[in-house]
Amino acid sequence: MNNVSHIPSYLSAEHLGPWETYLIQIDRVEPHLAAELRPLAPILTRPKRALIVDVPIRLDNGEMAHFEGYRVQHNLARGPGKGGIRYHPDVTLSEVMALSAWMTVKNAVVNVPFGGAKGGVRVDPKLLSMPELERLTRRYASEINFLIGQDKDIPAPDINTNEQVMAWIMDTFSMNEGKTAMGVVTGKPISLGGSLGRKDATGRGVFVATVEAARRLGIEIEGARVAVQGFGNVGEASARLFANAGAKVVAVQDESGSIANPAGLDVRAVKAFRQQNGTLIGAPGAETIDRDAFWRTDADILIAAALENQITASNAGGIKARILTEGANGPTTPEADLILKENGVTVIPDVLANAGGVTVSYFEWVQDISAFFWTEEEINARLDRIMREAFAAVWEAAQTKGVVLRTAAFVLGCERVLMAHKVRGLYP
Ligand code: GLU
Repeated sequence: MNNVSHIPSYLSAEHLGPWETYLIQIDRVEPHLAAELRPLAPILTRPKRALIVDVPIRLDNGEMAHFEGYRVQHNLARGPGKGGIRYHPDVTLSEVMALSAWMTVKNAVVNVPFGGAKGGVRVDPKLLSMPELERLTRRYASEINFLIGQDKDIPAPDINTNEQVMAWIMDTFSMNEGKTAMGVVTGKPISLGGSLGRKDATGRGVFVATVEAARRLGIEIEGARVAVQGFGNVGEASARLFANAGAKVVAVQDESGSIANPAGLDVRAVKAFRQQNGTLIGAPGAETIDRDAFWRTDADILIAAALENQITASNAGGIKARILTEGANGPTTPEADLILKENGVTVIPDVLANAGGVTVSYFEWVQDISAFFWTEEEINARLDRIMREAFAAVWEAAQTKGVVLRTAAFVLGCERVLMAHKVRGLYP
């Protein structure tokens, strides 16, 4: 049966958004699932719980404003919910549902003992002052307080949220519970039980997964041309790691525009320029190119580390890179996936490529629970090992089943989730 027909009544059929992408992905995966697990697959097409909250705050000018917030727990079969919180003006329930489902699959692909969850607030945080952002965060945290906890559901940063936001959530939850609860969120400041290595972990995982793919495809990282979309936490860290490894970062795009230098950009200088000026345009040694031209950059590797739905039927055909690594969640539409496959572009899917973040979140949670903290070397070594092993398992499954890496990763992840359901059985 076509999964797109399983639409929960709280989503309008015309506005399925990223949830539709996810359902199409599950459709493509279902035939490849082990026969004994296939009948359980419909479990994956429904979130376990979806909470919508009103987040009213007092603005600095004394007026009141309302924002819509969400926390979706897609699946808890393998452990507590885990996934970030996003602040963005375009956040919708459909988006948070898809992001929570991708967390379910991602956590299973790297085999960390978590289910999948995600949260978001429909807000443009750039329009809020720091005190307003703090009030928004604390009220949102209070509204979802009853759903979260170190053994229930553990939020983390995502787009436009950071260590400070996590510290406020941890503090609000701790105040409400009457105890200091470090393990309730990850991605916290080091001074509050955060983990060394967490900040760069997603970018590092993107880098490691790409290196693994490049090796198998006979592409040398030294001298490879890399184009990076998104220059936030994930894009900037991976660009830096590629540059450190001798690759040339030939193009970067963010919401301010696109810049290029075929001889390679100085990533640190670009970062410093952007920090100072709030834009990429005018960065030293960079020419400005138009947004569409970015996708046609002569590059060996393309990192998509911005938002969903960036690589679509209209730009996928122009991509020249041999490897596309999804640092973001859901950057490639299902139509674009087919075009990229046809053109021989190897797509390292989000549920594998960007799993480094949640992997180090898992390390942070373990460290908080055991109140024993590891060195950065230990963390990076464990992260690299988990990423390499997950990559190898996905690559191997893709070869044996004759499918693309996304399907292989989904098969691996979904089978782990469905196996947990099978052995737990259906309650009551
Ligand atoms: N927001 C990140 C992701 O999409 C990290 C989630 C986490 O660490 O829980 O994977």
